[in-house]
Amino acid sequence: MYRAGSGVMLSDPAFHQFNFVERLWAAWYLWIGNDVLATGILTFILHEFFYFARSLPFMICDQISWFRKYKIQAGKMPTLQDQWDCAKIVLLSHFTVELPQIWLFHPLATYFGLQYGVPFPPVWKMAAQIALFFVMEDTWHYWAHRLFHYGPLYRAVHKMHHKYSAPFGIAAEYASPIEVMALGLGTVGSPLLWASLSGGDLHLFTMHVWMILRVFQAVDSHSGYDFPWSLNKLLPFWAGAAHHDIHHEKFIGNYASSFCWWDYAMDTEAHAEARQRRREKAIAKTKQARSKKVL
Ligand SMILES: [Zn+2]
Ligand SMILES: [Zn+2]
Repeated sequence: MYRAGSGVMLSDPAFHQFNFVERLWAAWYLWIGNDVLATGILTFILHEFFYFARSLPFMICDQISWFRKYKIQAGKMPTLQDQWDCAKIVLLSHFTVELPQIWLFHPLATYFGLQYGVPFPPVWKMAAQIALFFVMEDTWHYWAHRLFHYGPLYRAVHKMHHKYSAPFGIAAEYASPIEVMALGLGTVGSPLLWASLSGGDLHLFTMHVWMILRVFQAVDSHSGYDFPWSLNKLLPFWAGAAHHDIHHEKFIGNYASSFCWWDYAMDTEAHAEARQRRREKAIAKTKQARSKKVL
């Protein structure tokens, strides 16, 4: 019986003090009757639903020529066949690679003290923890992704993700199983690390909101669309499609996922001005070395 956290049962009068989502959540665990199973099914369904639902508006934009002015690489529009072929491989990867990871999450997280009862934590706490996970994941992603661009690793692992030099939403998780596991570690490992460090100050609902927002971020950054209302226009340090699209086009630079600051700090930005700046720096360095030799 679902008693985690509050010890509430459907018949309890206390049950009605919870909000609609909390009641739905508790009813789901009571109905399934097995917490590991309930978490596994719920997490997997949420991931699938939001991944494809977030990709759909971009697929519709592809069919409407008015949106073409916001497409970063408008000369390389994906066909519906391209997107369907990609979706089939992504689905295969979801069922064979991500599903076992999702299933393992519940026992692993409860070991670190993760809560999954009702009521949910306050919104401010969820927001603060999710902001922290974004920063943690972005750091992991930057360095792991940069490592994947090292010659032999690129050819063995990361090359598959770079099949599309002009990416589209569904291509966000089009990657080899090793890459899905390694980069997925940033999404799953960040909350796990936080749960272990904080002595279990994490709720599964927070984890789910985080996972959905991370899926949105990944699909958005692969969408190929940079709208005037895109988040990077509001938050200048947010990467978005403008940042990641160049990575797919040029294959070098812009390795971070959510924020621009790692690429800025490590001088790995891929936009034209940054590349020009690096070229000028290299030329100046060579000139300096030559003049030293002459002297
Ligand atoms: Zn890459
Ligand atoms: Zn990508």
